[in-house]
Amino acid sequence: MNKKQMIEKAEENLFHVYNRFPVVFDYGKGVHLYDEVDEKYLDFASGIGVMAFGYGNEDYENALIAQVKRITHTSNLYYHQPMIEAAEKLCKASGMDKVFFTNSGAEAIEGALKTAKKYAYNKKGSDEYEIIAMENSFHGRTVGSLSVTGTDHYREPFYPLMSGVKFATFNDFGSVLANLTDKTCAIIMETVQGEGGLYPADKEFITKVRNLCDEEGILLILDEVQCGMGRTGSMYAYQQYGIKPDILTTAKALGNGVPIGAFAVTEDVADNSLVPGDHGTTYGGNPLCTAAVSQVLDMFEDYKLLDHVNEITAYFEQVLDTLVAKYDFVTGRRGMGLMQGLVLTIPVKEVVTRALLDEHLVVLSAGSDVLRLLPPLVITEQDIDEFKEKIEKTLDIFL
Ligand SMILES: *Cc1c(COP(=O)(O)O)cnc(C)c1O
Repeated sequence: MNKKQMIEKAEENLFHVYNRFPVVFDYGKGVHLYDEVDEKYLDFASGIGVMAFGYGNEDYENALIAQVKRITHTSNLYYHQPMIEAAEKLCKASGMDKVFFTNSGAEAIEGALKTAKKYAYNKKGSDEYEIIAMENSFHGRTVGSLSVTGTDHYREPFYPLMSGVKFATFNDFGSVLANLTDKTCAIIMETVQGEGGLYPADKEFITKVRNLCDEEGILLILDEVQCGMGRTGSMYAYQQYGIKPDILTTAKALGNGVPIGAFAVTEDVADNSLVPGDHGTTYGGNPLCTAAVSQVLDMFEDYKLLDHVNEITAYFEQVLDTLVAKYDFVTGRRGMGLMQGLVLTIPVKEVVTRALLDEHLVVLSAGSDVLRLLPPLVITEQDIDEFKEKIEKTLDIFL
């Protein structure tokens, strides 16, 4: 089948819920992707922040192949070595005490919401059900995670959603206070808003929210599905703020390409919320996916990847800042580490499309006006130079 036939066949059988770009990817090597006729693309999207180690990493592949040959699934009725190891390593990397593995980011959010509700139910009685979420946030597409996602057009067609959710303005502590009632059981936010446009939490804001949660006995849920796993230069972004959540959600790069997420909680939350029978999953944390997590967390240490992210970020930011200086329609840069956004006054969807189709550069958008860059964490200065050349050629089209 040629590309046209493949796309036609795809649209014949797939529920048309995505407007896909007319590109068929076949394989990847390092930070490059190759299409069906072997054309090479530079990937600064990482499959939406998933492929931290890029493509074709042999250490990772070998670990997965070995696990496939041993066992891929057992269910959560039994113990297995990969999950035991992955849980220990994830607790150590996050500073959290107990972890529950899921199949996705949205499911990690679902678990976090249920945990917060159960905690309030146990501690304060069944009336305590409100959750404060943030405007402009993104937490996933399931009914629960959609209920706390602060983008109206994602939510509206699916009302009524989960009740008791109030939206505050991100980085505005006064608006959090204004939404606080004696029924509030949790506050949920991304430490760095991703889909909403690459907005890091202000240190003062997140510190005040943390203190408020402590004073009121309510739980802070930090969604690090996108900004976690080393992307901002620390294993989890909150580690740079000197605070800790009561519940952490993580996914995307956690398995470097196999579908897995997790929510992790403190000892206090674990002791006072979900008990056997309250929650479960058939696949979640299966041997294949947790073997990947275990390998990924080992590779962070073996490759000293956080040091690399911190070193390369300075160079990346410098290159992005030259773009802000060079193009009138690039009005700013936002983000943390290798999670960066360029604010554009030209249509970002068109830039993403032209970059992909004309320059073979894979990039993302966020919100309506931000060009979002989530390169593999293993990028080098040479890759960034290649990016600069391709993005300049793309942006020149709009001059
Ligand atoms: C992607 C994302 C999710 C949802 O993860 P899925 O794996 O797509 O369900 C939740 N929260 C944040 C911050 C995300 O970026």
